[in-house]
Amino acid sequence: MIAGSPVSMRQSASNAKRLLRPPTAGFVRFMFGRGVSMVLKVNRPPGADASGMFRRPRMVLRAKRFEEISAILEKTKTYPGPVRMVGADYSQARCVGGDGGTTVDTSGLDKILEFGETTVRAQAGVRVGRLVRELAERNQELLLTPEMGQISVGALAVTTCPQASYEPGLAQLSSLITEMKLVTPQGRQLTVTARDRDLLRVLSSSFGLLGVVYEVVLRVQPMTPVKIDYLVLTLKEFMARFSSIIDAPGALRLHISPFNDRIIVERRTSDETSNLSRSGIWQIRNSVMRNVLPAFGSTVGSVLSGPGVRSAVVSGVQRALRATLDRGSRGVVLYAHEWMRELPPEAWKSRYTYSLWAFPQSDFPKVLREYFGFCSAYYKEHRYRCNVVNGASRLHQDRGSLFSVSYSGPMFTLEPSSTGEQGWDEFLMDFNDFASALGGIPTFNQTRALQTEHINKAFGDRARLFRALRQRTDPLNRLRNSYFAYLLG
Ligand SMILES: Cc1cc2nc3c(=O)[nH]c(=O)nc-3n(C[C@H](O)[C@H](O)[C@H](O)COP(=O)(O)OP(=O)(O)OC[C@H]3O[C@@H](n4cnc5c(N)ncnc54)[C@H](O)[C@@H]3O)c2cc1C
Repeated sequence: MIAGSPVSMRQSASNAKRLLRPPTAGFVRFMFGRGVSMVLKVNRPPGADASGMFRRPRMVLRAKRFEEISAILEKTKTYPGPVRMVGADYSQARCVGGDGGTTVDTSGLDKILEFGETTVRAQAGVRVGRLVRELAERNQELLLTPEMGQISVGALAVTTCPQASYEPGLAQLSSLITEMKLVTPQGRQLTVTARDRDLLRVLSSSFGLLGVVYEVVLRVQPMTPVKIDYLVLTLKEFMARFSSIIDAPGALRLHISPFNDRIIVERRTSDETSNLSRSGIWQIRNSVMRNVLPAFGSTVGSVLSGPGVRSAVVSGVQRALRATLDRGSRGVVLYAHEWMRELPPEAWKSRYTYSLWAFPQSDFPKVLREYFGFCSAYYKEHRYRCNVVNGASRLHQDRGSLFSVSYSGPMFTLEPSSTGEQGWDEFLMDFNDFASALGGIPTFNQTRALQTEHINKAFGDRARLFRALRQRTDPLNRLRNSYFAYLLG
């Protein structure tokens, strides 16, 4: 079927069967009657994608109007379950997971509907990068700005996206949401506002299991300059100065190199009095992150094989990044939207991958010391080590969502990072057990290779509560895929 040619709902079932064969790229339009139609997108071949994640939807539909989502959810025979949403497809785990069902691509729901003084209203498919740029044109910004622009607003509302935070109560992007419009598993529309705090808390960690979000309202504030300072420390120095590091105001992001015994502490403080210094340091760092790392990623992963050559290249990247940061240690002032990276539209092309766990702030120096030891022992035994500088963020307590990683108190994330070369997946399996044993909290979208016991240990009653709620609201498992069936039941 050619793009734009109308077909009936009956025909759609045979189209769906056709998609069981490896498809070629293209588009098919579906008609729902009364002028409501949708374009069916034949994706990259289903199955394992380049990031190693396995998915096999029977069909992928691109929604342009939220009414189409209701129609899909109601027609259980035409649109087989699980019905799963996909935003930018930038998750590190299999949380989208098509599993022989219907995957709905939200990229057609791409309108920013209303800019207000303290909020902005947008459809689910709008990318955060675009939203942040358009807000900046109005001298506004989100209260938290992520470093990556690909995230869809719909995913932001329902997944775990922790950010280096400034104050208690706001450490995760979903806590910016004050209103959510969604379609329930039965196809009914529902609007939830901040007045329904508990409901919003559950929906903010629902990963498309309790309903499909099609519109959200997010909090915004006037744009404020941020001063950025760097401190380069050894592990020993970091441990000795930890109390003063966490007591000083500002958001903290760490850049950790276990094999160089280096921790770069990046502190971001709001600074309304600062003049913006366009020293270019930040732009250089951005360029390193955006261009140098991915470029080396493809080289390291596919061309170089000898471990000697590989580590020489890798440490070259790390040296470049560190030199950039060292030069920036005088302090730079910029607006939050300037630190956002635009990665390629397809996640697998970024050639940058990581996994994320969070640990109680009070334990973090000990966790980091153990992690340095773990990395070194792992390298000795398996000759594998992460080849990208590891990240970490300080998170204030945030109870805005049920699966918030800083639900119980202030935390630090730890994010082993890599270009995904051979040995990475095995490293993460061992790292997961290491992290879980140290009381770590994972995420469903940014932690790879999770097992049920990690979830039960980390979330306990919260996981049980969510499971019971999900069973009540979606008894036919219309929205549940095998990934969540395995981890949450
Ligand atoms: C290279 C890289 C860099 C990253 N950098 C950052 C960063 O700096 N900061 C950060 O916070 N995160 C970062 N991430 C993680 C990423 O932002 C999150 O995993 C985010 O959730 C992905 O958004 P997405 O639109 O791609 O979601 P998807 O992967 O498309 O979907 C995520 C989940 O949300 C569900 N979902 C999507 N849309 C809807 C909807 N409308 N209604 C209901 N459910 C829905 C999906 O079914 C799935 O379960 C990065 C990821 C990568 C790969």
